[in-house]
Amino acid sequence: MSEESWAKVQSSLKENLSKPSYETWIRPTEFSCFENGELTLIAPNSFSSAWLKKNYSQTIQETAEQVFGEPVRVNLKVRNTKFEDRGDFGKVSSAPLPSSPTASSVAIDSLAESVRLSNKSIPLLNLRYVFNRFVVGPNSRMAHAAAMAVAEAPGREFNPLFICGGVGLGKTHLMQAIGHYRLEIDPGAKVSYVSTETFTNDLILAIRQDRMQSFRDRYRAADLILVDDIQFIEGKEYTQEEFFHTFNALHDAGSQIVLASDRPPSQIPRLQERLMSRFSMGLIADVQAPDLETRMAILQKKAEQEKVGLPRDLIHFIAGRFTSNIRELEGALTRAIAFASITGLPMTVDSIAPMLDPNGQGVEVSPKQVMDKVSEVFKVTMEEMRSSSRRRPVSQARQVGMYLMRQGTNLSLPR
Ligand code: ADP
Ligand code: MG
Repeated sequence: MSEESWAKVQSSLKENLSKPSYETWIRPTEFSCFENGELTLIAPNSFSSAWLKKNYSQTIQETAEQVFGEPVRVNLKVRNTKFEDRGDFGKVSSAPLPSSPTASSVAIDSLAESVRLSNKSIPLLNLRYVFNRFVVGPNSRMAHAAAMAVAEAPGREFNPLFICGGVGLGKTHLMQAIGHYRLEIDPGAKVSYVSTETFTNDLILAIRQDRMQSFRDRYRAADLILVDDIQFIEGKEYTQEEFFHTFNALHDAGSQIVLASDRPPSQIPRLQERLMSRFSMGLIADVQAPDLETRMAILQKKAEQEKVGLPRDLIHFIAGRFTSNIRELEGALTRAIAFASITGLPMTVDSIAPMLDPNGQGVEVSPKQVMDKVSEVFKVTMEEMRSSSRRRPVSQARQVGMYLMRQGTNLSLPR
């Protein structure tokens, strides 16, 4: 049994796993030895090792048994033993680290350190955006795993890590969690978090004040740089030019780069080809909208943090109403809590629902009901509204109808 046998196991796994899973977990895992039915593999870091154990050990075992033609036990080791393995990884609903009550105070101390080391004008990390406040669901598992891996072993596997996904789905949270966790592991690390807007403004200012050198020194000093909302670089030629050099300098120095965007690099319009290829050369991990169960888990967690008891049916109700944006989901919970405390009403679906639904939004209406009503009120026939007539009464009715449909149904604007 040899390295070649493991290569065979890998190629068989490659066929049966998704590309990101294979690339993230299996490809970087190396063969160590095979003795007495025990296959020892070396994962690049303790996080990968724990992840492989939890999620892939059975698949690896079965595949290895097919290839080797005999029973196999899988044993995982870590290449770099600097951070020892934490056996508690993977408690399903919430992120495992940092779990100690002192975690945030550690973060604050190390944060102060990082600010001193980097530069005062680089913004602080939000103390709430840590891994143990991030609820992991099927929608974010991959991005969360990659974020953890990058914090543990920066500048190695996934450089850059490119996190993409829609608005309010946790990109900034994940990104800053990487910063916090990195500082916890290495309080001396130089961590920078910057929005693309700030980078652009700093650059303009530096050019104006003829201080390019200090701009460059500052941005290129980071061990870990987190650049948020990189989609805003679209069409900004000079910013792209400068960012390209910043990126290369950091990458060459082995610094970890993490980028967040509301879309993948290939879909950022007017992005220089060379930047697009840089952005895509590490790992692109996306966050999707969470499913109902995950949304409920998020609400549950927020409620616990706020120390408010929420009945399950109310959690279910709120989670059912806010489906595509976690910021709005949180906002609804905040309003519900405020409403209950101001009015003294109990936290129940009956008392909270009308507040979350002030204008009858969410009451199901069909497009036809809207059209019928508009037609009746404006005294314009359905045919006229559908026609291309631009007569004022007709177009007004049409606009109002479109507005109401957009508000009251889930039709998109073009539809
Ligand atoms: P984005 O940057 O993708 O627009 P944010 O990271 O700002 O989104 O997240 C919006 C809000 O939702 C934040 O308050 C964040 O803490 C919260 N949030 C997002 N995803 C999660 C999650 N998986 N678990 C807990 N809170 C989350
Ligand atoms: Mg964001």
